[in-house]
Amino acid sequence: MRPTPSADAATVTFREELFRRGLLVETGVPGVYGRSGEFDDTVALVERLVMAAGAADRPEVLRFPPVTSRALIERSGYLGSFPHLAGVVRCFDGSERDHRALLRAVESREDWGVGLAATAVVLAPAACYPVYPLLAGTLPPDGRLVDVMSCCFRHEPSDDVARLQSFRMYEYVRAADAQTVLAWRESWLARLVHLAHGMGLDVRIEAASDPFFGRTGALLADSQRGQGLKLEVLAAINGEHAPTAIMSANYHQDHFGELFGIRAHDGSVAHTSCVAFGLERIALALYRRHGLDRARWPQHLRQAAGA
Ligand code: AMP
Ligand code: ZN
Repeated sequence: MRPTPSADAATVTFREELFRRGLLVETGVPGVYGRSGEFDDTVALVERLVMAAGAADRPEVLRFPPVTSRALIERSGYLGSFPHLAGVVRCFDGSERDHRALLRAVESREDWGVGLAATAVVLAPAACYPVYPLLAGTLPPDGRLVDVMSCCFRHEPSDDVARLQSFRMYEYVRAADAQTVLAWRESWLARLVHLAHGMGLDVRIEAASDPFFGRTGALLADSQRGQGLKLEVLAAINGEHAPTAIMSANYHQDHFGELFGIRAHDGSVAHTSCVAFGLERIALALYRRHGLDRARWPQHLRQAAGA
């Protein structure tokens, strides 16, 4: 399990301020917060800006619920790489005797999850997963481009207000031949910076890695970083000293193409890439940059938010 990042003074202060103003509301679980109407309105503004940034490419728009197929997650390799982040849905389907045992366990504060059976669903770990099986078969000559958004879950409880367990992720997913996909991702880097600058955010792009599980995972992470497969756009949320990834541009090579039988028009295994936006993180970066009083934000942002 990845260690929970320690909460330094700046982290705590910003989080406490957000609670104090009621922008975020504590639930007793780290990384799971209620939001005020205003905070959600800021998230909606971010969503509109992200959608506008990709609209010229005329993507297919798809929306999925916060749960997804367990079979899909098994097939995608997610459990091999990130078993520690996955959240699964298990439900009670026992007898009356099992029910009594469950209530006794709840009463005595024991683990009552042992009596629950797996269901067909898991919590969506990223917005893009449900898209890949839909791309199976041979792609049209120019490949496909999908605009997707969903609420995602990752089991990474933390005092860092930017590290949520439940958050919204917006993504553009591209599938085509390797060259087309790489050029597409490259073209998005400038757009990401432009989008961030338009919101007044100071950002930098860095090669990064996913938090793969275990010792083999550490090697995978090194290789991912070395090959520049994951690029992150970083902005200050908890302070300038430790910027947070607010967007990422990921190149999966032929990983999903192989797993889901996706072929480029020329018959080769398709390559895929996704550009992902953490909507709450971008909203938090805006509050960090422009202050917690939205009435004092730059005019164009206030207007866009209708505030
Ligand atoms: P990733 O698939 O890890 O690149 O995540 C895509 C985007 O989702 C990131 O760039 C973040 O902006 C956002 N994100 C990832 N993990 C979290 C989290 N625990 N809390 C909030 N946002 C997250
Ligand atoms: Zn993705």
